[in-house]
Amino acid sequence: MRALQLREWKSEPELVEVPDPTPGPGQVVVRIGGAGACHSDLHLMDEFEPGSMPWNPPFTLGHENAGWVHALGAGVTGLSVGQPVAVFGAWGCGTCARCRVGIDPYCENPSAAPVPSGGGGLGLDGGMAEFELVPDARHVVPLPEGLDPVQAAPLTDAGLTPYHAIRRSWPKLPPGSTAVVIGVGGLGHVGVQILKATTAARVIAVDTRAEALQLAEECGAERTVTSGPTAAEEIRDATGGRGADVVLDFVGTDTTLALGVAAARTVGDLTIVGIGGGTVGVSFFSVPYEVSIATTYWGSRPELVEVLDLGARGLVRPKTTTFALGDALDAYRQLRDGTLEGRAVIVP
Ligand SMILES: [Zn+2]
Ligand SMILES: [Zn+2]
Repeated sequence: MRALQLREWKSEPELVEVPDPTPGPGQVVVRIGGAGACHSDLHLMDEFEPGSMPWNPPFTLGHENAGWVHALGAGVTGLSVGQPVAVFGAWGCGTCARCRVGIDPYCENPSAAPVPSGGGGLGLDGGMAEFELVPDARHVVPLPEGLDPVQAAPLTDAGLTPYHAIRRSWPKLPPGSTAVVIGVGGLGHVGVQILKATTAARVIAVDTRAEALQLAEECGAERTVTSGPTAAEEIRDATGGRGADVVLDFVGTDTTLALGVAAARTVGDLTIVGIGGGTVGVSFFSVPYEVSIATTYWGSRPELVEVLDLGARGLVRPKTTTFALGDALDAYRQLRDGTLEGRAVIVP
């Protein structure tokens, strides 16, 4: 089969021919119907030196995947060939306290996982291929009625990641509250939809690009703010001087984090989702009282089931542009240039 592989660090991925996978005991092979192209894949191509990650190329890219069950390994029950499924992308050890509640991204025994702190498309072969080998059937989640694999694929990361970040702050988002979404890209635009679908908060979206702000409005944002020196003031003005109850930073640079602190309300949450690598100083006087600042990474398996339900009911619909597997490099080029609207989904 054909597969888009990262062959070595600091290189462009290549479309190569690899053997079709066969499932061992307890494993599942999924025929891919959609594989999302994620901004973090660009970090994989650009940034890492050999030895800086607990795993190395070559491996097939694509960590947000959905398709149909193609083959079941010995002992797998509860799934049938041809059934539409999503793949939960973080593959932990399966038995530590974090994995037991389904939050494999926070696995506490990564050396016992199929690959330490990774998954399909992150150290092991992912979904930018005709088939993906999933090493444990627990990662294969049946799609609810009304959701096809192209729509479902981005929900496994571009949906699940903002969902996890928002869900933890639900108690701070009653009617009358304000949530700010910084960065309306692949994750941020879905974040706006999730806020609208699951909370009564007013949503303010921030981005540098006019098209992104328009997308945020289409997704239900009540107000948009162009990123810049006056952005924090505009958010304070829009909230009667109080600031935002929850700020979700999908960029994560020095600039956006500084904006997050300047726009946050006392007792608010500032959640850093974007892996821009920026820092922000925290001292008694530098942040509003009782503001909690946290990073989040991906989400849990039960939360994926919830996101898929939102997707199937039409409450959350990532904006997608589809590309053939042979055009996957174009998708990444557009992602890099910032010209892609919504999420690129590769359809092999
Ligand atoms: Zn991702
Ligand atoms: Zn674990």
